[in-house]
Amino acid sequence: MKIAVLMYHAIPRRREDLENADPRYAVDADVFHRHLRQAAARGLAVRSVRDLLAEAAGGGQGAVGLTFDDGHESNFSQAFPLLQDLGATADFFVNPAVVGGKGFVTWAALREMADHGMSIQSHGYTHRYFDDLARDEVRRELYESKAMLEDRLGRPVNLFAPPGGRITPEVMRIAWELGYEAVCTSRPGCWNGRGGRREIPRLAVLATTTGQAVDAWMTGRIAAVAVQAARYRLARWAKRALGNRRYDAVRSSLLRLAGRPGSAG
Ligand SMILES: [Zn+2]
Repeated sequence: MKIAVLMYHAIPRRREDLENADPRYAVDADVFHRHLRQAAARGLAVRSVRDLLAEAAGGGQGAVGLTFDDGHESNFSQAFPLLQDLGATADFFVNPAVVGGKGFVTWAALREMADHGMSIQSHGYTHRYFDDLARDEVRRELYESKAMLEDRLGRPVNLFAPPGGRITPEVMRIAWELGYEAVCTSRPGCWNGRGGRREIPRLAVLATTTGQAVDAWMTGRIAAVAVQAARYRLARWAKRALGNRRYDAVRSSLLRLAGRPGSAG
């Protein structure tokens, strides 16, 4: 079984609504709605990774995984109603430190989403890059985000998506120790649908991503996924060569040269 897991960020109705969100990662609500209709036209169920993991034993219908990072306010005001109309579910990876802040979802919104079948999961406590942190800070980020989300929402938190996609084998080990069951990364690829302490690759849908690319990814066309993987490896090489701070500083000029966003998460 091959499942494309899509990664979105903000879903603005209008570009003016992009408070505290990177416009390069924002997909307009109309465009997102079109992607959902494309999935329906292909006969694919749109499901959270949490639900796909629970259903994995049953197999069955073709599906596409749907995830959102950062907990932008538009995830609640725009994406959530569209998902409900379709009977679809998604994982929302949020940072408890900014929930309720300007431009972000509130705790009341997260509770309502969780009550209607949405999966609310950890994107770390803050949005610091984990490969810049000492081991005890990584542990605190993973532990406190899980504990606070479980406490406030009354539901288990078993999935983690690393901020900026930065992940190391050590971070994965700490995640397993703390009871996470899978890590949804920003490495492009298709998921085999299996759970059990593993990395689940995702495909980042960005402002520049075309409807054709989304269709190719959803239907598992390998060449399209391979192109994304090659772009990702190039960006990762640049991050390693430059370090996170310098990478972020020169990123905008790299983007102008490449004409493409380099990473997401
Ligand atoms: Zn993020």
